[in-house]
Formats: sequence, structure tokens, C-alpha cells
Amino acid sequence: MQQFYCECSQRVMSHHMQCFNCGRVLGFDPLLLRMYFVTPSDDGLYRDAAGIAYRLCPNRVEFHVCNGLVEDAVGLPPQARCSGCRLNRTIPNVGRLENILRWRRLEVAKRRMLAGVAGLGLFVGKVENGFSGGMRFDFIEDKRSHPEVDLHFVTTGHHDGLITVNVLEAEAVERMEQQELMGESYRTLLGHFRHEAGHYFYPQLVTDIASFTQQFGDPGADYGAAVDSYYKHGAPANWNQRYISAYAASHPMEDWAECFAHLLHIRDAMETAVAYGLFPFPEVATDITGMLEQWSGLIAGINEMNQSLGCGEPYPFVLSQAVKEKLAYVQGTIDRDVASRS
Ligand SMILES: [Zn+2]
Ligand SMILES: [Zn+2]
Ligand SMILES: [Zn+2]
Repeated sequence: MQQFYCECSQRVMSHHMQCFNCGRVLGFDPLLLRMYFVTPSDDGLYRDAAGIAYRLCPNRVEFHVCNGLVEDAVGLPPQARCSGCRLNRTIPNVGRLENILRWRRLEVAKRRMLAGVAGLGLFVGKVENGFSGGMRFDFIEDKRSHPEVDLHFVTTGHHDGLITVNVLEAEAVERMEQQELMGESYRTLLGHFRHEAGHYFYPQLVTDIASFTQQFGDPGADYGAAVDSYYKHGAPANWNQRYISAYAASHPMEDWAECFAHLLHIRDAMETAVAYGLFPFPEVATDITGMLEQWSGLIAGINEMNQSLGCGEPYPFVLSQAVKEKLAYVQGTIDRDVASRS
């Protein structure tokens, strides 16, 4: 993530509500990658330095789950929500306090994913992707977290623009349990959002099925059978020579989503390293091959830094040649999509 500075020159984070130094109210728009700095007015609105008036997002006022602002534009109802919150179709049951805390974590991860996507030049609007309603989110409980709900088992997934996340994923203990159960080396909320974004953008980005098939395999291969087989038998023994994760080996569409998510991890971490003076090269390489080369050097140090502090490796991945080619393919589809709209 890039760095943001308040008008008082204090460094602020994209999810912060207020500047610690001067008290200005902050508002981050993850779709526009823009941070707003406002102060309260007597009329109950908030104004920026140019005098433009904003309201706080109602989800911010009531639940503190976002730091969004809504411009006080003519014709907009007072209950209008911020750009990030407007993408929610189903929010967790806020009658249960623990769900508000979970929702807050979900929103932080969701907004970081959205910011990463915007940083690549992609849009979540309905026009570009062909899905009827653009990107939308369902944050849902199942019986594991709440015995009174009807659904027995909700898994994280994507269908027709709708990204569903089980709110239980926002509980670190539950997530670790699933990680152990699945034999995964990496499972994060942010990773879930980025993976599902990969599915969301697939129809927009992959316009040449032949080249996709060459790189990832047949996208039309029987999905149910492939995923069933993965959960029954696991990934092939040598999966790490061809795939970024064991799960990526389950089906070409999952491989794509894993690679898309991975590209977002790398791009965000590289941007953060540059913004905080941690990047050991003069500048970020403009070509994907050079960038992945730089990434390998950077992440080796970050992994070791974590070990120095007694924490595990945050990045338990190996980029084989085959995976690098897949990441380059994903980047190529994004470049073409962005160029076609500029
Ligand atoms: Zn400030
Ligand atoms: Zn909001
Ligand atoms: Zn998937």
C-alpha cells in the first residue's frame, strides 16, 4: 500500500478513522485510492480544505466497520453508504456483538483487496465485467458459528459477481483450524478476498481461451469432479514445481485465482516496501520477469526478518519457473485490459 500523509504531515494508514496528531477525520475510498481529510462543521456535515461537504458512512457511525465518507451530493439519501459498503449485499447479523468485530476485520481485508485491484487499473463496476450487478459481497454465518441459522456449511466462493465469505474466517483460531485441516501453509482473510477477486475478473481478463488452456489447462474441465478428487486425494506429489499452492492444482480455474491473488500479494508488498524505504533496489522493474526477480530478493529478507523476531515465515511460497510464467500471463491479461480502456 502507498503511504498517506495527513494535511498536518502526519503519516496515516488507510484504515485509520482519525489523524492521531491533529484530529482530522479520515476517509479512505478504496475504489479511487484516495484519502480524504475532513473536519466537522456546525451543520453536522464534514468539510475538506476546499469546503466540499461529506457525511460519515452510516456503517461507520453505527458499527465502526469502515472509515468511509459520502459526498453530500444533491439527490443522495442521507443513509447512502460509502463506495466500499455499497458493494455489500449481505452483512453479518449485527445483533451478535462478535459479528460486528468479525465484520470489521472482513472490511479491512476487503478494502485492501479493492485498493490492490484499483492499483492494477482494474474496476469492479458492472459495465466492464459483464456480471449483472458488478462486484458484490455476502458475509454469511452457518451453523458452526450460530446454531440458529439454517445453513449448515457456507464456504468462501464466487458466483456471478457475488463473493461469499463465511464470517467465521474472520476468527483467527477457526481459520488456523481450517488451515491445519486442509494442510495449507497460508490462509488469510486478505488471501480469500484476493483469490475470489481472481474468479471475478476471469471473464473480463481472459478473452483468449486457447492461450489460457495452454498455460493453466482446460477451464471447462469438470469442476465438481476435480475439486472432489483434490479433497479426497490431495495435490500430486510434485505440485510445487507447477503450482503456487497445493489448492491451485485442483482445477485450472483455481490455479488462475491463486495466481491472480498471488500477483496482488506481490504488488502490494512491493509497493509497501518502496513506500517505507525497505526496497533494496533503485526502482521497481517495469517488466514482470525483473519484478519477480526483485521480489525473490526482497521476500527472502522479510521471511528472515520475521524469523529474527520469533514469528514464522509470512511468505511460505516458492516461485518455480512454471509459476513465474503463469504470473506473467496474469499480468499480461491485466495489461491488455487496462490498455484497451485507456
Ligand atoms: Zn493530521
Ligand atoms: Zn462504509
Ligand atoms: Zn476459487
